[in-house]
Amino acid sequence: MYYLKHTAILNEVEQLQQMAKPLQHSQLLKNSLTKQALNRNIKHQLDQWQQDTHLTVNLMDKHGHVLYQSTPTLTINSPEIKPLLQKEKMSYQLRSWNKQEYLFVAFPFKNNGDIIGYGRLALPYKMFSYTIKRTQTLVTLLYLIVTILIVGLSYLLYRERYRPIHTLLPVLKRMIKHPEKKAVIIHESDDLTELYETVNHLLSDMNKTYLAYQSNKYQLQALINDLQIGVIVIENQHVTLINPIVQKWFHLNVPSPASIYVDYFAQSALLPLIQQSLNHKQSLHTELHIAHPHEYIFDVSLHYSDEHQQLIGTIYNITELRQLEMMQEDFVRNISHELKTPTTSIIGFIETLKDGAIEDTEQARQFLDIMENDAHRLQKLIQEIIQLSRNGFELTEKDCIALEPSSIIEHLLQQYQHMIQQKHLHVKLDTQTNQMLETYPYYFEPIIKNLIENAILYNRQNGDIKMTLTQTTHHYHITIEDTGIGIAAHEIDRIFERFYRVDKSRNRYFGGTGLGLSIVKHYTEVLHGKVTVTSQLGIGTKFHLSFPLKQNAG
Ligand code: ADP
Repeated sequence: MYYLKHTAILNEVEQLQQMAKPLQHSQLLKNSLTKQALNRNIKHQLDQWQQDTHLTVNLMDKHGHVLYQSTPTLTINSPEIKPLLQKEKMSYQLRSWNKQEYLFVAFPFKNNGDIIGYGRLALPYKMFSYTIKRTQTLVTLLYLIVTILIVGLSYLLYRERYRPIHTLLPVLKRMIKHPEKKAVIIHESDDLTELYETVNHLLSDMNKTYLAYQSNKYQLQALINDLQIGVIVIENQHVTLINPIVQKWFHLNVPSPASIYVDYFAQSALLPLIQQSLNHKQSLHTELHIAHPHEYIFDVSLHYSDEHQQLIGTIYNITELRQLEMMQEDFVRNISHELKTPTTSIIGFIETLKDGAIEDTEQARQFLDIMENDAHRLQKLIQEIIQLSRNGFELTEKDCIALEPSSIIEHLLQQYQHMIQQKHLHVKLDTQTNQMLETYPYYFEPIIKNLIENAILYNRQNGDIKMTLTQTTHHYHITIEDTGIGIAAHEIDRIFERFYRVDKSRNRYFGGTGLGLSIVKHYTEVLHGKVTVTSQLGIGTKFHLSFPLKQNAG
């Protein structure tokens, strides 16, 4: 503001100087710079000029004699005169006189280069201070306007710059919160179109990815839930994934998912294995045998990942596999024994006969009978093994015929007549239907044959065998009931298993192989039938067969 005032004063000084110029160079004044001459010639003009310009004019000669005086008064000692005495061309002063401020501009009168007097113009400060004030106000206003403009512009620039953030941020936040919902940024202006389109593209991709992820997650969950392989994932001591089959196998009553694994598997046989793997930070693969409440064998693989602090477990129930393996081992042992016994016997008798026993006709006949028996047994074993390995693939349409089950049974009973008589068994065939059965004799006959054979073999002396043939709307039913040794309840489920025999030692005595009922079950299934059994130990056994009347085997 000081600068402003200073400039305004200089401006005024300049103006006063210009106004003083006609006075300074007035030839009239130069010629008569005495009081008398001045009064006579130009006092009146000066008064008038003074009145017109609102200026105060003072004149004095070079000696300080006042020639024309107005208030404020001028003396040779006035401060603005001093610089002129030192040959200054002009001087000015802003000072107060009689409690009022004035701007004084003093100048010399010269004639032929010599100073002959001094003149001074005085202007009350208030006469031009309002200009300064007005300028000040103007400047302040301008300053204010400029400030407002700058602030406004900055705000606009700021808004413009951060507009994308304000538009994008809420949409992005919403997308993070609800990625399943579609989100689109609608933009009206053309600027930033590329940015908005890119973000929209990104949002759409994110939405699709999320939905795909959800669908995959659901599929994976469904898959894991239905999987017959146990799956466990433990992360940072917590169970993060487990499928229902593991819970079922190990009777885990779990309070909540993501529980600490120690609580989760407490009391379970899996816990020590998991602990071992986690404590030693290493994977393990082992077989786990559980005796109670049921006998189970599991193949447990625990894969430990140090990087993810994670344990991934897969559990296979290999109980059946092991049982099957055991049964097969059993079978191979039995079969080799079964094959060896008659073979050794046959070879032994052949050698004895060759060594001379052939000469004794009576003994030779006995030996040949035994050899024949053994050969039959061998034949039976081989036949049954072959039968078991057969599948329905041999069947063709023309092999399926309508037959009368009663005549097949009667025919088979004929074959076993000798055994029936030996045991004095009473056989009764109760045919309650004359319905023909469309079936494949190739499979049907061995079923009936095996059941009749067992009913004879495992029957008591003077026992009964009762067979009934009935029909329902779509099925043909055959029951074969005996009064033999019966089967214990806990064995019932297993008698259809291949190579399974209830009492192995006694069974050999009966001549069984453990394959007969397996053939019965296998062939009944090939014929789309069903076989069930009820039995009471020491009282008897009853097999029930049912076949669809219209056969469509394959
Ligand atoms: P096998 O050739 O030993 O008779 P199967 O498969 O026919 O073999 O029978 C399996 C086992 O079931 C037999 O070993 C026998 O112990 C028992 N079994 C089968 N049928 C009868 C039956 N009618 N009465 C009592 N036990 C039976």
